[in-house]
Amino acid sequence: MSGAEHDDRAAVRLLAEEIARATLRPMTIMEVCGTHTMQIARYGLRALLPPQIRLVSGPGCPVCVTDSGLISAALAIAALPQVMLTSFGDMLRVPAGDSSLLAVRDQGADVRYVLSPLDALELAVQHPEKEIVFFAVGFETTAPLTAATLQAARERGIRNFSVIPAHKTMPAALRRLLKDSAAIDALLCPGHVAAVTGADAFAFVPQELGKGAAIAGFTAVAILRAVLALVHMMPQQAPVLVNCYPHVVTATGNRAARAALDAVFQPCDAVWRGLGDIPGSGLALRPAYQEFDALTRFAAAVAAAPRREDHPACRCGAVLRGEAAPVDCPLFARACDPQHPAGACMVSSEGACAAAYRYRPTS
Ligand code: SF4
Repeated sequence: MSGAEHDDRAAVRLLAEEIARATLRPMTIMEVCGTHTMQIARYGLRALLPPQIRLVSGPGCPVCVTDSGLISAALAIAALPQVMLTSFGDMLRVPAGDSSLLAVRDQGADVRYVLSPLDALELAVQHPEKEIVFFAVGFETTAPLTAATLQAARERGIRNFSVIPAHKTMPAALRRLLKDSAAIDALLCPGHVAAVTGADAFAFVPQELGKGAAIAGFTAVAILRAVLALVHMMPQQAPVLVNCYPHVVTATGNRAARAALDAVFQPCDAVWRGLGDIPGSGLALRPAYQEFDALTRFAAAVAAAPRREDHPACRCGAVLRGEAAPVDCPLFARACDPQHPAGACMVSSEGACAAAYRYRPTS
């Protein structure tokens, strides 16, 4: 064990003990970042905390919250002979009914995974005979890169490129979720999203909803420090927003990223898996970029697309609302695992079910 690892383990143990001493009543804390979900499972943090502290996962995985309607549209677009559909690897594997983007690729569609929308744009340059479509999923962290890619496409006059705009933004969804759920006492805010939006974007959690909020980094120590900050708030009954990740997250965030977002996108209503239609929680292309909207460019195929329903026993919706744990699903580790996912939360490397499966007790 390295010195640093030893120090971390000691710090984790001390923090867990301090949290146990400070906990005076039961408390449910929701985390809404796929990386937090994975780190909490990886480090076994739930088992280190006192039983009164319940950590639940929320809608923090962008692939998981992309609803079947948009995936059905993507499947229909991908099936068009002139189209090459691209997206991140996880998105290609999400099941929709008895299909997925990988399944239609096996049937002959041109579907490719990319690491970045810029890679998709270069494919458009290399393949002028094709229509390159990028299925753009992600929160405030990835949407600026899509925006920058569209700005580059317009500047370079690349016309055989378009995006399925499926980006979502956190505040409106969290407002809806936390308002509707009295069971959630506090929020572990997503550090990556906050780095773009700024800490101030989460001030509504204590101010409007009366719940504590802490912006957290991604090590075990960083997560536990944020949990401790939330536990300390409880007896005071005066919840606030605490920035426990100040070396990365400022009050106002990344101005360049937000400027790119504002130039290309405008807020729109969006449907979230498990949460439904939430006003102002999506990003639509502004009129100046409307020509790059694949849902408009291929409107006839989208309108004719059959809607693919989720597996009837899949409980992804309840998992994303924090109402069920992955192990509560009857399919978990039986008919659903990362090799054969029955639902979105098992596909993504940031999904709650994938995290619970990967770090499940094996004995
Ligand atoms: S275990 Fe699979 S089927 Fe069940 S909720 Fe998770 S992803 Fe859905």
